[in-house]
Amino acid sequence: MTSELINRVRRFAETELLSKENWFDSRPETPVPASSTLHAAGLANWWLPAEYGTAGASLTESVDVVSALSYADAGFAFSSFLSVLGTTMLRLFAEPVLATEHLSRMARGGGFCGILASEEEAGSELGRITTSYATVGGDLVLNGDKYFSTNTDAADFLLVLARSAEDESNFGMVLLPRDTPGIEIAKRWDMIGMRGSATYQVRLTDCTVPAANLLRGNGLRNLEAGLNASRILIASTAIGIARRVRDISMEYAAGKQVKGAALSSNAVFAGKLGQIEMHIDVMRNQCRSAAAEFDAVMASNDPAGTFYRTGTIRSALAAKMFCGQAGWAVATTGSEMFGGLGYTHDHLIGKLVRDLRYVGLVEGGDDVIRDLLYTRYVIPMARRL
Ligand SMILES: Cc1cc2nc3c(=O)[nH]c(=O)nc-3n(C[C@H](O)[C@H](O)[C@H](O)COP(=O)(O)OP(=O)(O)OC[C@H]3O[C@@H](n4cnc5c(N)ncnc54)[C@H](O)[C@@H]3O)c2cc1C
Repeated sequence: MTSELINRVRRFAETELLSKENWFDSRPETPVPASSTLHAAGLANWWLPAEYGTAGASLTESVDVVSALSYADAGFAFSSFLSVLGTTMLRLFAEPVLATEHLSRMARGGGFCGILASEEEAGSELGRITTSYATVGGDLVLNGDKYFSTNTDAADFLLVLARSAEDESNFGMVLLPRDTPGIEIAKRWDMIGMRGSATYQVRLTDCTVPAANLLRGNGLRNLEAGLNASRILIASTAIGIARRVRDISMEYAAGKQVKGAALSSNAVFAGKLGQIEMHIDVMRNQCRSAAAEFDAVMASNDPAGTFYRTGTIRSALAAKMFCGQAGWAVATTGSEMFGGLGYTHDHLIGKLVRDLRYVGLVEGGDDVIRDLLYTRYVIPMARRL
């Protein structure tokens, strides 16, 4: 099952994505039609349980799926998997009828879920967000500005982190169907990398939905649970990018002459490629091990309770930070590999470097991840390894 799925994804990446790097990097106006090819291949939202008619892959398998897609284009991969953050929250914390309705629709149409958490002023201190939800009769009314949100324009529905207007200490995660009046796309960001994906600034004005669209529990805790899945897959994009850097380096070195011989037979080059292979292996092992931990919780009797208590998983934090750093080490080695050509837009390596940089920024930069590891896993003595 695993290898068959991965083979299908590899074939899809080869036929539909590879060699289209320039198009993806051109920040196409409508990256979504590209994603519809994933749906046509029966691969969209592959991590949703098979009962929804999807490929039904585990998060552990998803590590290799994301690596295969990112090998061709990391922005496409990011767009394709980021909904896992929202779908995990729905599976864990939404009333079953709400979850089933929206997950079925996503699975049928190959659609997206957008997450609206970040705000300009609050930064990573999400406890300072100002977007609010007020209870009016049997409805919730949302207002606020969200700074970054990927896939929002094309999404079927959005999950919005908001503060209760009645009790400022209380946070909720509210589901907004995309066609809810009052959702305005303020702009699409011009990112330096991951340009095959689309991230927006969004304004919410009097967006009204039934109170049943509020997920159970505290919105900040809901988000932490979902981030376990998406952080592991963000980390996995670094594996695909690093594999591509290795392969284009090998192709280049076969034809490049240094000291009268092919660069590929040079000991300095061999050392660099050996180092890259080590990084790829450790990145993949860390992502797989974190994903297996996530899968084990999801398969347990009370995944919602466990994630609600545990919050962020140490191995997921470690995967994201390690892959951001190791991936960057590979990218910068690759950048030097092609000499001056490597610093031009004419060569693929520049795109790979720009794409790779997002791993250490999105869903918590390294300072934030270090802080989380310290406060959650170092200060409490009982949680130290
Ligand atoms: C391509 C892309 C896609 C995105 N998609 C989404 C999305 O779909 N939904 C969404 O909600 N958001 C999204 N984001 C936002 C992203 O998750 C945040 O930008 C990221 O988590 C960093 O947070 P921030 O921008 O608030 O900056 P901050 O984290 O506030 O960082 C600003 C500065 O403060 C420092 N800092 C912050 N906290 C600490 C700390 N605890 N200790 C020490 N220093 C600290 C940082 O190191 C940095 O120097 C996206 C961003 C990008 C680039």
